[in-house]
Amino acid sequence: MGATLSANAARIPPWGLPPWTIGFHSEPLTVPEEVDFAVVGGGFTGLAATAWLRHLEPNKRVALFEASRIGAGSSGHTGGMTLSGTAGGELPGLGDVLGGLSNILRELEVRCDLTLPGAFEIGRQGVMPNSPIMWNDSGTLGVTREVPGGTIDPGKMLSGLAQAASKRGALIFENAPVESLSIEESPVLNVQGNPVRAGCVLLATNAESLELSGLAGQAQPKFTLAVATEPLSAEQISSLGLAPVKPFYTVDLPYLWGRVFDRNRVIFGSGLVHLEDWRELLTLNVAEGQPAELLADLERRVRDLHPVLRNVRLNHRWGGPILIADKWEPVFRRHAHHRDVVVLGAYSGHGVALSVYLGAWAAEAMLGKKDLPQWEVNANTPD
Ligand SMILES: Cc1cc2nc3c(=O)[nH]c(=O)nc-3n(C[C@H](O)[C@H](O)[C@H](O)COP(=O)(O)OP(=O)(O)OC[C@H]3O[C@@H](n4cnc5c(N)ncnc54)[C@H](O)[C@@H]3O)c2cc1C
Repeated sequence: MGATLSANAARIPPWGLPPWTIGFHSEPLTVPEEVDFAVVGGGFTGLAATAWLRHLEPNKRVALFEASRIGAGSSGHTGGMTLSGTAGGELPGLGDVLGGLSNILRELEVRCDLTLPGAFEIGRQGVMPNSPIMWNDSGTLGVTREVPGGTIDPGKMLSGLAQAASKRGALIFENAPVESLSIEESPVLNVQGNPVRAGCVLLATNAESLELSGLAGQAQPKFTLAVATEPLSAEQISSLGLAPVKPFYTVDLPYLWGRVFDRNRVIFGSGLVHLEDWRELLTLNVAEGQPAELLADLERRVRDLHPVLRNVRLNHRWGGPILIADKWEPVFRRHAHHRDVVVLGAYSGHGVALSVYLGAWAAEAMLGKKDLPQWEVNANTPD
């Protein structure tokens, strides 16, 4: 019988606080010695896969291990724009990411304010004559095109997916870092000194634990930043051109993205901290050094965008990790050394919809109901 883990002592890095809350807290549970499926990482990917596994196969034993708290990584510090495709463009056989997201959330009864009214691509050239957005940022920034997309409340999506998994009988362990993975007859996880044998493992650890996922040297961990305004009036939102409540992102540089949150706050994001080693994330503080400078730059840009924003209070400043792989394409493959271990992540800052969609796909692949995609040369896949 393994040890009982609770979430009390979770490590929380000083990445700042976004304007939503994550309402899920796991119960203290005893670590099982054996499960059918183990999922490592409690972000959107890991939670969606866990919930979907139990949704499809309620009799399989499924456990999720999260090093810190649910949403501690990118997912709790995201912007929450739901976009189609991938950061590397459309990939063969990818399918309808936004349609899939809606379907998965509906099936799992996750209510997270998903709306899909479309998204604005904005830029300094080729601005549409009737662009609702006309901002000042290295030129005049306006809408160049409208594409499919929308937004969610990230706190509600994390809590909703975790509750969906938990309600269906999956075991969720917070404050449960997986320290290593060994292969015997089947994969064995070392969860804080407790061995857990699993029929199949999903590594959904994103920008952290790159040695565990086999992505060290193959994908670049970065840290990116965002701010949220105080609540604005409907007139102010309208003056900004955001009354249609469509998220936006630039198609040229300098990069800027954003969205309306909770009907009245506007979130803006930009800036990349380059990291030599993912472990720098463990001590990175948004109030110090380069992250603080990038936040100050972002704040200056936001204030110059439009007169409505000149003296606005920015109530939230935060950042979070992203992982960028080759050609900005997500990693979705078997681990180089373990056939029964699947690695999924590296969405290059474009993973809100994709993580849930591919998380459910990973669950189906682990259950033998679907093949993994063939997006990359499978040099890392053993025969
Ligand atoms: C500021 C910001 C804004 C963004 N905005 C958008 C956006 O608007 N739209 C969009 O599509 N994408 C956006 N992204 C990207 C998107 O948030 C991510 O792609 C997505 O959340 C990734 O989810 P994930 O579950 O794969 O990873 P994560 O949420 O990072 O989850 C990985 C989890 O694994 C855990 N973990 C790591 N190592 C271990 C271990 N050894 N044992 C156990 N657990 C471990 C971590 O604690 C973490 O909770 C943004 C990202 C940031 C930082």
